[in-house]
Amino acid sequence: MRTGAMGLAGALLHRNAFCFDATPYVSLIPLEVHIGKDLWSYPNLEGFPEELSAIYRVKVEVVEPYSITSGNDASEVLHAVREAGYGHALALTRAPIKVKLSEEDIKKRIAEGGTELEGWRIGVSGLAESPGTAAVVTDYWRGRGVPKDIAHNRLLEVMVHELGHNFGADDCDDRGCNMHSNPTAKVRRLDAPIGVYCERHYDFLRDWLRIV
Ligand SMILES: [Zn+2]
Ligand SMILES: [Zn+2]
Repeated sequence: MRTGAMGLAGALLHRNAFCFDATPYVSLIPLEVHIGKDLWSYPNLEGFPEELSAIYRVKVEVVEPYSITSGNDASEVLHAVREAGYGHALALTRAPIKVKLSEEDIKKRIAEGGTELEGWRIGVSGLAESPGTAAVVTDYWRGRGVPKDIAHNRLLEVMVHELGHNFGADDCDDRGCNMHSNPTAKVRRLDAPIGVYCERHYDFLRDWLRIV
């Protein structure tokens, strides 16, 4: 297990991570999503710019809130975020966004004892272009009914995961890795250390990781 935020043993070996001349910007977008008559506003963004910049080699700035009217389909929301015209956009909302399950996911779900339904949709905490420059996250599924600091950390973990996708990383089977994701699993990777990756993802992402 390697950590980007804390460096540890890998730090001296990866000094080349500093050899970039320009630090890319990520715009953090407070996103208001209007679904039907409901307005799903954005969570408190305080702390996230500093925390993201401590993990990834990016500058993060919070921009003006952006309002969209959409269904709760995460791809639609992501599309709207891309249309907002920011360079690298990471949008935060509280909306209960969902994705349609793929054929493969549906088969897996049935194998696990589920029942087949037409057009299954499941809630997701985030969605990102991979690779790309747009991502959206919500604290709706994992942030309700828990103390604020836990909700904050869970959302940060999702942001770090989705940014990893933007940088081209795929999902991971390793539960200890920040790229772990299994949308059909009953057990989620919750409250694990943030900015920690398996060897493979550490190597893949290391030019993006801030090693101090
Ligand atoms: Zn993922
Ligand atoms: Zn991994």
